[in-house]
Amino acid sequence: MAKSNELKLAVLPGDGIGPEITDATITVLKAAARRTGLKLTMKKGLFGWDGYKKHKTTIPDSTIKLLGEHEGWIVGPTYAGEYPKEDPYHGHPNGFIRKHFKLFANVRPVESFPQLKPLIPDLNIVVLRENTEGFYPDRNMAWGYGEFKPTDDVAISMRVITRKACERFARFSFAYAEALGINRISVVHKRTALQQSDGLFVGTFEEINKEFKKTKLELLRIDTFSSQFPREPHKYKLVATTNLFGDILSDQASGLAGGVGVAPSLNAGTDCAMAQAVHGTAPDIVGKGVANPSALIFSTALLCRWFYLRTKNKACLEAASLMEKGVKTALVNGVMTPDLGGKASSATFTKAIVSAINNAK
Ligand code: ATP
Repeated sequence: MAKSNELKLAVLPGDGIGPEITDATITVLKAAARRTGLKLTMKKGLFGWDGYKKHKTTIPDSTIKLLGEHEGWIVGPTYAGEYPKEDPYHGHPNGFIRKHFKLFANVRPVESFPQLKPLIPDLNIVVLRENTEGFYPDRNMAWGYGEFKPTDDVAISMRVITRKACERFARFSFAYAEALGINRISVVHKRTALQQSDGLFVGTFEEINKEFKKTKLELLRIDTFSSQFPREPHKYKLVATTNLFGDILSDQASGLAGGVGVAPSLNAGTDCAMAQAVHGTAPDIVGKGVANPSALIFSTALLCRWFYLRTKNKACLEAASLMEKGVKTALVNGVMTPDLGGKASSATFTKAIVSAINNAK
């Protein structure tokens, strides 16, 4: 574990706007660290296209080693499925990382900001998504791919749900609820149709609930939840669900809150966690100086909170809130990038965030 006042981070800038948003995020993180006395050490690694050009793979061995030596990672987006086919990880370097390092919990908080004209004001919900198995064909096999086409007219997708993955995810969910001071978890499932697999998922939550007696479990079918959530969005605080349902529900919540442009995510395991924005590489705006770094900044704030859960070092918590407040203050002051409806460049937006952090009371 990192020394209490030191954050040791690996940084993988990635493709497209990745280098632009990671640079802005590091500038903001450094400002927050200066205010809170956190000592930062950061090391950059090759990832995505840069890795491929140099080492013929989107995740070179040196990068895997670098990640293994650091508990916290800030990672940019990579092009989806555009790498040459001989790359063993082509199309899914992220899937590889999540599986290899057992980043089993994807944390997706969603908050609406009035400046972004949300469909639902005051939305504040966290979606926790199991990240290592389920309906993702690259994740549920030790060898091979979990989708088959026995004939041209027949396609089969396989979903794997294991007790081990459910248990670690359920424990993480209860611990996260306790850390946020939330006393109810809404477990979203389709046990009625997927009796064995979702039955195992829900049953494991019920079992692990015995270790976390203060937290109530609410079980909701995905269809019921989907129709109720937009009508009564404030009823739910913390949703825990399987991989594909979590992917869909977290994007739905982001859409209702004002779009994925500011949506953060943290991929957490037992010993390491990765901050990564939800959006992609935004190839249409690369190099134009207008990339919006908010989502990666919020994701890095989540990473600082994860460090706090491990070390109980209050400086990590303070740095996280300073970064979040910094972005919110820039938005309130009308300084925002074009994707958010403003006219500011990435540099101006970043400066406004840093200035808000420097001036925070
Ligand atoms: P990919 O193939 O990598 O997923 P994409 O363009 O299909 O890329 P996104 O990268 O999520 O998907 O982009 C969708 C749209 O949102 C694009 O028009 C892009 O410019 C815009 N966008 C996404 N992220 C940002 C950002 N951080 N700042 C500004 N605009 C963004």
